Amino acid sequence: MSKFYDKSNVFCKIINKQIPCKLIYEDHAHFCFYDINPKAKVHALLIPKAEVVDFDDFIEKSTKEQVCDFFTKAHFVAKDILKLKDYQLHTNNGAGAGQVVFHFHLHILAN
Ligand code: AMP
Repeated sequence: MSKFYDKSNVFCKIINKQIPCKLIYEDHAHFCFYDINPKAKVHALLIPKAEVVDFDDFIEKSTKEQVCDFFTKAHFVAKDILKLKDYQLHTNNGAGAGQVVFHFHLHILAN
């Protein structure tokens, strides 16, 4: 079942340029910026611009091409922009897993 997307979440405001961020990359469908409270030397967040609450919701509401584009973009950001060799990709799906911002995001972490 598709989830309710609350437009007052902080990442929605970042996409809409209502609040600032340290931008890494933006295109028509994706937005990438530095985490405000980094848990590693490099801590980026990649988000789709679509209104999707979490990973489950992203998979449910997206086409296979959109899912593929998102993960290809994660690779592009990690390798071509951030120049990372070894890194982690992480997402918290749901409050019980530690998700606090309810706009799907992928953490890209490297030390
Ligand atoms: P999660 O626990 O997976 O929902 O992660 C949310 C992440 O968003 C945390 O790592 C926060 O530090 C980060 N965060 C919250 N507000 C901002 C903001 N305004 N700019 C950048 N990162 C943020």
